[in-house]
Amino acid sequence: MADKRDYYEVLGLSRDASADEIKKAYRKLSKKYHPDINKAPDAEEKFKEVNEAYEVLSDDQKRAAYDQYGQAGVDGSYGQGGFGGQGFGGGFDDVGDIFSQFFGGGQARQRVDPTAPTRGSDLDYTMTVAFKEAIFGKKTNITYTRSETCHTCGGNGAEPGTSVQTCPKCQGSGYMTVERQSMLGVIRQQVTCDQCNGRGVLIPTPCHTCAGRGVTDEKHTIEVKVPAGIDNGQQIRLSGQGEAGQNGGPYGDLYIVFRVKPSKEFERNGNTIYSTQNISFAQATLGDEIEVNTVHGKIELRVPAGTQPGTKFKLRGKGVPYLRGNGTGDQEVTIKVAIPNKLNKAQKDALMQYIKASGESVEPQEKNFFEKMKDKLK
Ligand SMILES: [Zn+2]
Ligand SMILES: [Zn+2]
Repeated sequence: MADKRDYYEVLGLSRDASADEIKKAYRKLSKKYHPDINKAPDAEEKFKEVNEAYEVLSDDQKRAAYDQYGQAGVDGSYGQGGFGGQGFGGGFDDVGDIFSQFFGGGQARQRVDPTAPTRGSDLDYTMTVAFKEAIFGKKTNITYTRSETCHTCGGNGAEPGTSVQTCPKCQGSGYMTVERQSMLGVIRQQVTCDQCNGRGVLIPTPCHTCAGRGVTDEKHTIEVKVPAGIDNGQQIRLSGQGEAGQNGGPYGDLYIVFRVKPSKEFERNGNTIYSTQNISFAQATLGDEIEVNTVHGKIELRVPAGTQPGTKFKLRGKGVPYLRGNGTGDQEVTIKVAIPNKLNKAQKDALMQYIKASGESVEPQEKNFFEKMKDKLK
């Protein structure tokens, strides 16, 4: 694992910093490096580092473990055998788990600071596009509902001019310990704090816009650039277009999944487009220059004399553009030879001439109208 910077160093504090100093340093730095404000390339990394440091140093138990054991005291990946203890065998998904083992909390599901900034949820959006729109791309606006940081209170849930208080019952942890009498004796259990409902804070005067939630549901419109060459089932990610984070955390992302409508004329497989083209018996036999439809417009195709049904022609660069890199796929045209189901007298005579000239012996099966009627009446 990469060496992590010392958490006190990250927040610019000495090891005997008070809880208040930690909170102040965190507020200042998280604002400074917030990715919505700070566009420097390493801002997000710094923002995460500051959050991580605060998550540990703002919790008395975690801080104590960090002071004693350093990074190993707060990092689940050191669990395997690190402390020779039972209960460290499995994987821990978060710092909270290891702590509940460490301090005999046992029952606690998690002890993550409920007032720490957390990233908002990701959202999914399915967009249906026409066959050609998927090939050539387009710009379009979409509107959807998402939670946004409340513009009145800035997300803390308190009416402007009033403040948020740390919950006195749980000291901001969001959890409280209850004792329960059981057959085996007294069981201590950690449950969600009933005074703050696990938020860790109390809001004496809730914001009139969001009623203390810190977020509001808003209709959000953005411009989406459908990439040229997108295919059915592929998706794009729009960073920061998901739901609002909690406690000033960043927004989640929006994933747009594409559905491509089929075409009557063309089929598509990846970057190749397939089509069929009917030509007449005479064109197939003698060859011709024919017009073929492509998604890029009509083109001329030279069909050589003696072209067989099922012959395929490749039209270079007439397919779908590649999403990454340059170039465009091809179109494959399959030739069908149309056999006429009706011939006029002159055509018939000519064909009889043709048969004679080829030395074939053909017994035509076509019946005239009256013979067909007689057959039906039998
Ligand atoms: Zn509000
Ligand atoms: Zn509480």
